[in-house]
Amino acid sequence: MSRNDDAGYHFASDNNAGICPEALAAMLEANASGHVPSYGDDEWTKRACDRIRELFQTDCDVFFVFNGTAANSLALAALCQSYHSVICHEISHVETDECGAPEFFSNGSKLLTVKGDNGKITPDGLERMATKRNDLHFPKPKAVTLTQSTEVGTVYTVEELRALAAIAKRHRLNVHMDGARFANAVAALDVHPSEITWRAGVDVLSLGGTKNGIPVGEAVVFFNKDLAEDFAWRTKQAGQLASKMRFITAPWLGLLDNDVWLKNARHANAMAKHLAARISNVRGVKLMFEPQVNAVFAELAPHLQKGLRERGWRFYTFIGEGGCRLMCAWDTPQETVDRFADDLTALASKRPK
Ligand SMILES: *Cc1c(COP(=O)(O)O)cnc(C)c1O
Repeated sequence: MSRNDDAGYHFASDNNAGICPEALAAMLEANASGHVPSYGDDEWTKRACDRIRELFQTDCDVFFVFNGTAANSLALAALCQSYHSVICHEISHVETDECGAPEFFSNGSKLLTVKGDNGKITPDGLERMATKRNDLHFPKPKAVTLTQSTEVGTVYTVEELRALAAIAKRHRLNVHMDGARFANAVAALDVHPSEITWRAGVDVLSLGGTKNGIPVGEAVVFFNKDLAEDFAWRTKQAGQLASKMRFITAPWLGLLDNDVWLKNARHANAMAKHLAARISNVRGVKLMFEPQVNAVFAELAPHLQKGLRERGWRFYTFIGEGGCRLMCAWDTPQETVDRFADDLTALASKRPK
């Protein structure tokens, strides 16, 4: 059986991966230009904004912040007053992994959680929460946030998004999308990016790049430009305006040119599919969700988990609905997937001690 200590690849998270070559090349190229205006007043940032507008085929407003927590919480803060609330899934990143940042940056907008299978908000759940109370003792629902792809590696279909957005519009809720893994969703659904955003009724998107191959920085994309009013000031006040902005936006260009973002996402998704196929029939392994993007969630018998960890494999057990999360990235080699599956298969064929 192998030991994975020195192999350099494992399944802890797609943000454990490095920078993809195209993003790194773009960053180095930006560094070769001597002195350049700061705070986003540069060529790379202008081009990155234009490329995102082209990508979505619409005249959206684009901002860049350092990470996904800032993108989500500042976007939601732009949609809400302090006395408002945001409807989200109970296992959403905004609820479980942002240390109260959405509430903090909105000065107190409350998150209202709803349940739903496969990490997804249902039309019923949204309708019920949106209409639960309308008295002034309860924080008024003003936004809904949908994670695409979800925290458990599933995706909302175009029809599901349209149905949810229609309910949101009926109740005057703004629609935010947490797209930390948006690229993986586009790759999985094989749709145009506009189809699962503004054409479906999404007002604001947190567009992730970090997990897709850039070093740092996420985009906040306002399809509803009225909601972007003063957002630049919001990012500055929150400490999220990079002075050397070109080193965030040049890597973005590296991702966007020649559809590298899609190539990276397709690879990560394919590796997860391969991993799922290799381990789903192993004794002591039970897949928890159909892996639609780059994550495999599985219940692994304790002796299997222990054996894998002893062999140097890393993965989390507390994310989403629990179980083991095996995350593939833009750079996950198929041989690593195979070695992991071989180890798991070998462990399962031994008698548990
Ligand atoms: C990774 C992730 C984010 C962003 O997290 P940061 O660590 O703040 O960059 C946001 N939403 C989801 C669903 C994520 O998986």
